[in-house]
Formats: sequence, C-alpha cells, structure tokens
Amino acid sequence: MNHDNGSTNHDGKHAPHWKKHICRTEHVPIQVQDDRTGMDIETLKRAFLDNLYYIQAKDKGWATAHDFFMALSYTVRDRLLHRWLKTVEQTYFQKDVKVVCYLSAEYLIGPQLSKNLTNVGMYEQARQVVRESAGLDLYDLLEQEDEPGLGNGGLGRLAACFLDSLSTLEIPAIGYGIRYEYGIFQQTIRNGTQVEVPDRWLRFGNPWEIPRPDYTVEVKFGGHTEAYTDERGRYQVRWIPQKTILGTPYDIPMVGYNTNTVNTLRLWSAKASEDFNLQIFNSGDFANAVADKVYSENITKVLYPNDNNYQGRELRLMQEYFFVSCSLQDIIRTYLRSHNNFDQFPNKCAIQINDTHPAIGIAELMRLLLDVHQLGWDEAWDITQKAFGFTNHTLLPEALERWPISVFGRLLPRHLEIIFEINQRFLDGVRSQFPGDDGKLSRLSLIEEGAEKQVRMAHLACVGSHAINGVAALHTELVKNNLFPDFYQVFPQKFSNKTNGVTPRRWMLIANPKLALLITEKIGKGWIKNLEELKQLEAFVEDEDFRNRWQQIKQDNKQDLAEYILQTTGIHVDANSLFDIQVKRLHEYKRQHLNLLRVITFYNYIKQNPNADVVPRTAIFAGKAAPGYAMAKLIIQLINSVGNVVNNDPDIGDRLKVVFLPNYNVSVAERIYPSADLSEQISTAGKEASGTSNMKFAMNGALTIGTLDGANIEIRDRVGHENFFLFGMNTAEVLQKKAQGYHPWDYYNSNPQLKQAIDQIASGYFSKGDSNLFKPLVESLKNRDDYMLFADYQSYIECQQRVDEAYRDRDTWWRKSILNSARTGYFSSDRTICEYARDIWQVQPIPITLEDEQEENAAIQLKAPLSKL
Ligand SMILES: *Cc1c(COP(=O)(O)O)cnc(C)c1O
Repeated sequence: MNHDNGSTNHDGKHAPHWKKHICRTEHVPIQVQDDRTGMDIETLKRAFLDNLYYIQAKDKGWATAHDFFMALSYTVRDRLLHRWLKTVEQTYFQKDVKVVCYLSAEYLIGPQLSKNLTNVGMYEQARQVVRESAGLDLYDLLEQEDEPGLGNGGLGRLAACFLDSLSTLEIPAIGYGIRYEYGIFQQTIRNGTQVEVPDRWLRFGNPWEIPRPDYTVEVKFGGHTEAYTDERGRYQVRWIPQKTILGTPYDIPMVGYNTNTVNTLRLWSAKASEDFNLQIFNSGDFANAVADKVYSENITKVLYPNDNNYQGRELRLMQEYFFVSCSLQDIIRTYLRSHNNFDQFPNKCAIQINDTHPAIGIAELMRLLLDVHQLGWDEAWDITQKAFGFTNHTLLPEALERWPISVFGRLLPRHLEIIFEINQRFLDGVRSQFPGDDGKLSRLSLIEEGAEKQVRMAHLACVGSHAINGVAALHTELVKNNLFPDFYQVFPQKFSNKTNGVTPRRWMLIANPKLALLITEKIGKGWIKNLEELKQLEAFVEDEDFRNRWQQIKQDNKQDLAEYILQTTGIHVDANSLFDIQVKRLHEYKRQHLNLLRVITFYNYIKQNPNADVVPRTAIFAGKAAPGYAMAKLIIQLINSVGNVVNNDPDIGDRLKVVFLPNYNVSVAERIYPSADLSEQISTAGKEASGTSNMKFAMNGALTIGTLDGANIEIRDRVGHENFFLFGMNTAEVLQKKAQGYHPWDYYNSNPQLKQAIDQIASGYFSKGDSNLFKPLVESLKNRDDYMLFADYQSYIECQQRVDEAYRDRDTWWRKSILNSARTGYFSSDRTICEYARDIWQVQPIPITLEDEQEENAAIQLKAPLSKL
C-alpha cells in the first residue's frame, strides 16, 4: 500500500504540511503513516524492527526478549493511537457527549500486551511477526511484561474489568487514578513465610503510557482560609495553602474488544512544583531543597498494601486528595472547553467513586465550584449531588474510612469547613423530618463524636451522591438494613444493587484459549460480547464427545498448572487429582484457615486409614497478606508448614498435596482459574461483599463449594442448586449466634476431629515441635473465633465429602462443570456496566466510525474472526 498522504513518509519524498498543523482553529485530519497503522505482515515486521532500532536502540543481535517485548508493544500502541484520538478528540469532544468519569484509587489491569492483541484482533499476526523477524515465540515476549500492580485485589480488578466493558460497549468513559511508582509488593516465600519485595514495575519503562505534561495541574495542601467579600458583595473564601504540588497525567489506552473505541485510563503522578523553593536553592541549601522535592513526589510513590482494611495514615489522605483534585480539575477543564457555565455539568459527566477512597471529591467539587468558579452554595450542591454516584465495597467496620478532624483540618482546612457546612444543612433537614430524634442525628452525622472527632467518609459519600450501590444482592440488602439503615430511611430512592461481573475477554478468551475455541466451535463467537449466549452450551451436555473434549481441556490446563507449580515451588502434584483452589487476599474473614483445617482432617483420615480409597486432592492456595497483618501472615506460614509435612509423608503419597503459589497477581490468576475443579468461596456469611473470583472460576467450569455470602448466592441460583456445594450458616444465623453469645470452646470440645486438628497445630506437629509459633492463631480461634470457623467446621467437612462423592462420578461432574459455565452469562461485567449506564449514569453507547479507506481496511482486518486463537 502506498498512500500519498502528504506528510513525511519513510523515504522522505513528501514535505510535511506543517502549516496546517499549527492552525488550531480548524480540524485537520492527521494523515497516518502506513508503518504505524498497516496490518499486513510485511508492514508489521518492518514496524516491529523499526521500533526495536529507533525506540529501544537495539539491533536484532543485541536485543533481549524484553527489548522485543517493548518493540512489539510500541507496534501495537501505534495501531491504537489513531482510534484513540478519533475516540476522545474527534468524537467525545466534538459531539459533546456525556462521559463516565470513574474515580478509583486502584486499577489492577494486568498485562496489557495480551489484552491489546486480543481486543484488537492481531494476536495471530503478532505471533507470526515475532517468529519470522526475531525467531521467538510470542509467548516468551508476553512473559516479559511487568504487570501494573496498581491495586490490592477485588476492588482494583473490578475497576479494570469495568474499563474493558466500557470500551467494548462503546460507552464514553475515562478512568482516573494514581500512577504509583511502586505497586502492590512482590510476594516471595522464604522458609514458609511471606517476604515483601518492592514492585519496581517502571524500572524498564512502561510502553503503554503517554505522559501529558501539558495537562499538569496544581494541588494545594495545608495552610489556612480567609473570608472576603467580592466586588459583587458576596461572601467568598480563599484558601492560602502551605504547599502546592503538581500532578502530571500519564494516559494508558483502553481498547474495547472488536470496537474502534479506545477510552483513556489517566493516572496522576506527583511532581514538585517548579518554583518550589527557589529561595532555598538560592540561599545555597541545595540538599534541603531537593529533600523537599522528594517529599512532594512521595505522594504517588507507593500503593498502600491493605485490602479491606483502613490505616489512618496522613500520606494516604494526601494520595486520595491529590488524585481526586487532579481529576476534578481535569474534568472541569475538559467540560469548559465546550461550555461557558455549569448548567450542563451533570448532563455531561457522571462521576462514580469506587468505594470511599475518592469521597473527598464531593467536598473538592464543591470547593472548585464555590471558590474557583464562584457558584452559589445551592447551585453547587445540586450539581455535585447529581454528578456523583457511590459504590460501597465492604461491610467490615475496620475498612470504613474515618479521618481525625485534626489531621483533616491541617491538610485540607477549606474542605473541613465545607464538610461542616454540608453536615449542618443535611442535619437541619433530618431534624425537620425526624423531630426530637437526637440518636438519629448523631448516627447520620458526617462527624463522629468521641475522644477525637472524625470525618466519616462513607457518610460524606452517601449525602453527596444521587446513587448508592452495593455489589451483590445480599450485600446491598445489608448496606441498606445493617450498614446505613438511617441513610436508607432518609433517602430510600438512592439505593440500588449492581452485582459485580468480570470481563470474559480477560478471564476466558485470554486465560483459557482452548476452552474459548471449543465454545466458539459449538456456538459461534457471539458469547465473547454477549456472555448470555453461553446458555447454548446446555444443548451439548448430553453429547459425550463434547463432554470428553471439555474434560480434556480441563486436564490440559491442570497439566500446565502442575508444571508451573513444579517450577515455582518444587512440588510435584498429580494432574489427575482434584484441583481444589482458594486464591484471594489472605484475610481471616475469607477463612483460608477453615480450608486448612479440612486439609489437616483429611490428612489425619488417611493416616488413620492407610488403605482407604480416597479421592486424591491437590489443595492450592495463593494470595498476599497485608505486610502489617500478622495473623494473615501466620496463616500463610501455617499453609506452608502443613504442606511441608503432608507433601513429604510417604504414607500420603499422591493422595494429598498442599501448595502455596507465591505472588498471586493477574498473570498468576490467568493460569489458575482455567485449571480448577473446585472453587473455594468459604467466607463467613455476611462478610464478603461480592467476590469476583467465584465468577471467574465458575465461568471456566469449576464447581463451587461456598457459603451463602456475596455473589455466591446469585451464582448458586443461576447454575442450579444441584450444581453448587453449599455449607455453613447463613447471615441471619451468624448474627443470631453472635447475639446469643458464641462459644468456640463448645465446638472444640465436642468435635474430636476438630480438636485433633487444632491440637496438632498447637503442639508443633507441623512446626518441628515449636508449640509457640501458631499460638496466636490457636488462641484466637479457641477464645474468640470472630469468623466462626468452628461453628461451620462440621458442615464444611460433610460438604467436602459430598464433593468427593460427586467427583467419583466423573460423567456427572463434567455435566455440572459445563452447566456452571453455560449459566454464568449474567456475571459478565458487560451486564454490570449496562446496569450502571442505565440506572445511575444515564449514558449511551457512542460508536466510533472510521472514515478513510486505509482505516476501513485496518478495521476489517482487525475484525478477522478469532484469529488470536
Ligand atoms: C479476581 C481477583 C481478585 C478477587 O478475588 P476474590 O476471591 O473475589 O477476593 C483478587 N486478585 C486478583 C489478582 C484477581 O484476579
């Protein structure tokens, strides 16, 4: 292809029409160059080697696998850019459409190369290019990517699945977050314990990000406020900060599956302001000036590694305010490019806050509207409430953010004033609705009274948003009735449920290509965008050949995982055993130790019945513990200690293996979900908001053993009660037992198997005789057992026996496996996003159309059916 596009091309024949490009009033379509958009193999090869040479500055002989990874990534990025600009500048801006602004402190987006190749449809071409121009396997390049670990677990991964669905559904959206220099730590295991290693993910550069220094904004901290009367006689406040820091955005393209839509993930990085302290520089104290610069840049240095747990650190509040202020200034700047007042603001921006981490945005938008743009209070408040929506993610009291007003006022004096004002006006309203009910007022207040007054961020989020949602049906009921019952009474219309989902592109197509191919062969490829079509697989449940192929794919995936286990842990596992998997953050409420009690009980059973005919099992665990969460770390140590004893006991052989896979992240997760027979979802009822690994497992044909918690309930209702292993107390029973006074000792004393397992842990059976090591865990269980493992133990053991029986009848098992997958269409994040779009955001899809012939050609090639498989 040779297009006379009027710009400088490779052989420099044409002069650039530079004059056109500096004329900013009229839109000049930028004529794209072949080498950066062409999709034929020869062009791709040339582009790949050009990028290797001109960006990585390597020729083939010197290049490492990582250099080739970078070169391929740039080659792919080039092919996204044109559609990215078309999406953002030439469609969203020109048509002045309503945009979803998703604010999240975390995005666990996973490796981008595999996703972009898949969504753009150039996986096969890339494989050929890499093979023919570098003699390498694409797989070896994919492995080079340091995945951006900008999240802890489910909450951050949800944000990533949402971005994939938003682009795939062609919904205008921008994700705002923080470009942490260090993401979630890398977990290594030494002597059975977790050791954290800093995540230097940016060390070799990030090929996907584009810095946008021209969109830098200023963020203020500290100082004081002053009231004044403006020239029109109105009361105004100005904030005189102690410090100003700069926020620079880095943009990452988020391409949809088989669409032209490329939305933006905009992550903010803190920079010292230029004139930060020229004074000190000039006075010669260079070291202090630089130290101060370093201090400013600390704001985006590291992700706090807590999941479902809040630590009231001042730097964390600075992070939250920093990214929210940057984002809101950016939203307003963009809005004001096509508007000269704020009347249309809520019709053009739907701002969703992912938990309370960005809730300070409600006070910040008020400040920007009041103090910077000089709106009156009522108008500003109306706009703010209409713009914001709030998603709650947890019922755990220790996870609810509260900031002491001393810290808050020192850092954000103006915001504290605004929050007091919001509170006063809100409570005045409540007082007239519920006269004389002081209890209600103090329960609803944005300020918690006590030795030290605190700002309740969840209350700010509830008052300042027009919509409040939970993330699974049970969770939303508990949010309404247990967590925020007073808010539910005051604003019942604000509450709704939006059950979480996961993207089938990442979690089926990419993670499980063999299964994806089989499904596509049977029902076509519509399921990739419309997951409900998996229903059609039900027609093949009685087809023996289909069942055999289904089972063979699971077997192949298990074999792959067995090899990975051997490589990473040195443990041999039998791919014919039942793969029983629990992967998620380590947390007492998730009850990895309940699973372990069953493992120990099974071990004891084999020891006592050496000739018993048991169903061989491999118990696989993975997950990070927050570095400051001693009990969670102790549970990791116990898993490894039990593994050490069990895996090396010749009486046990291949009948039981216990594995802890290190460094659970998106790449590891992709290997795990497709290989599971059994998915462990065993949290104490009422504690897990939704769970999403439960969905990923079921989609890939695992059966679930679980409690009536989070989305497990909805999964069970959809896959069929007979295809789900249910055990344990429900939420009402948990609450009732707590209220009656729960005595774990009674269970310990009356259940000999439970007692034996606990006594073994206590005596040092798994710790080379050290009876102190696991004492904190044993004592906590015997004396308090906050998460009621003992009460659910027997029910869990019996349920696991039902699992064994079901697994013995393989034919029935594979029928159940197929039905699980066939009936999980509801759990696509596409469905979740459609519900948010309809009920909360009121946004429509805006397809991106490409105009010229070259674009069309590229688009057609991109839509080649499932070439990636
Ligand atoms: C899906 C996922 C999670 C969430 O798992 P839950 O079991 O729902 O808590 C956490 N981390 C990663 C890497 C995931 O892919």
